[in-house]
Amino acid sequence: MERTAAILSVGEEILAGDVADTNAREVAEALRQRGLAPRLLCCAGDRVEDIAAALDLATRSAALVVVTGGLGPTRDDVTRAGLARAAGEDLVEDSTALDGIIAFFQRLGRPMAESNRLQALRPQSARALPNALGTAPGLAMELHSATVFVLPGVPAEMRVMLEQAVLPWVEERCGAPAPAARVKVHAHGLPESEAGERIADLMERGADPQVGVTVAAGIITVTVTSRSGAAPAGRAEVERVAAEVERRLGACAFARDGETLEEAVVRLLLERDLKIALAESCTGGLVARLVARVPGASGTLLEGTVAYANEAKTRRLGVDAALIERHGAVSTEVALALARGAAVQAGAQVAVSTTGIAGPGGGSAEKPVGLVYFGLWLAGREWARRVLFTGDRETIQLRAAHYALDLVRRGVLGALA
Ligand code: ATP
Ligand code: MG
Repeated sequence: MERTAAILSVGEEILAGDVADTNAREVAEALRQRGLAPRLLCCAGDRVEDIAAALDLATRSAALVVVTGGLGPTRDDVTRAGLARAAGEDLVEDSTALDGIIAFFQRLGRPMAESNRLQALRPQSARALPNALGTAPGLAMELHSATVFVLPGVPAEMRVMLEQAVLPWVEERCGAPAPAARVKVHAHGLPESEAGERIADLMERGADPQVGVTVAAGIITVTVTSRSGAAPAGRAEVERVAAEVERRLGACAFARDGETLEEAVVRLLLERDLKIALAESCTGGLVARLVARVPGASGTLLEGTVAYANEAKTRRLGVDAALIERHGAVSTEVALALARGAAVQAGAQVAVSTTGIAGPGGGSAEKPVGLVYFGLWLAGREWARRVLFTGDRETIQLRAAHYALDLVRRGVLGALA
């Protein structure tokens, strides 16, 4: 019980599967990093008796219970009432919380709806937690032998309250988080099976540290975790094995500990002071989107063109119509011409292009669904690649976008043949 936690997500939309329960994931991760073992993860719809029953179970299963959602002003937001029911207490109006809600609307210069008043209610023995971003105050109270925190469902509001109210409470009781004796190595450009073979001897059952492999959209993650917790010796061993994993994956390994491929590519381009332009056909702007998501991308990204129709490839990026006629839009020649055109138009030192068949229709025996050509231009030097991806349309597009980014990375690093 001591260092255990239960998480309860409230909301019909979560229960129905309309909204992914990202709150539970974030809370579990934050608590786990601080040495609290999750014991129970549950979800209740917007019904008082279900919330009360779930709270009853949760507070008997773990020392800390974190609830998210159902604190809003509408009729279906009944977490407060569920908590009161579980505790056998009445709801009372918290005057400080009410002042906070009134002040929130004054700052916005908007009238407060009468229903927002409901948000100032709390079970008799609960304490209201201020909400810096929204109207709904959170709640904290003792129930059975557990401490319960109730946070808003809106992920941004949940996060702030988790950091300001829950984690300080946890750290006071359990100490500051020990740096995790875990390293993740991210790689791209080889099949999962081959990655597994290269590090097979490190992955033996029972080995310490433990080594595991996962893959998503062509990106392989090797996780190296110490079995001996956060002890310094365990951490040193994790570091040694992670370095060995990187050595065996060679140029495929691009980053560590959650850094994404697009972040690694932007970091590299900024380090080298290189400007990039993009020419996308089958990825429809996805490469641009991934790059632009990275803070600081403006230091390297000049422009991206989505040249979908053949005529657009000619008009926007100067690809010779006769070239398209001769080789087809999905070809080495056109991929190279697209990258060249993008670099010249934008005045960029680096440009990458995608042209392929994302499916589900449009494939042929010669050019099947999933076939994508890439062109890379790097200060006058050119490379082309032909890759056959599998998966549905979205997967093919994402894997192609990752491939394009990785081609840039390898080109800039001088790792291309
Ligand atoms: P508010 O005060 O804004 O009404 P609330 O506490 O009532 O907040 P909800 O109405 O339950 O929260 O949810 C608000 C938003 O947050 C919705 O868009 C919902 O989809 C999202 N949300 C709620 N719970 C979760 C969750 N567990 N994971 C991810 N998103 C969530
Ligand atoms: Mg709600």
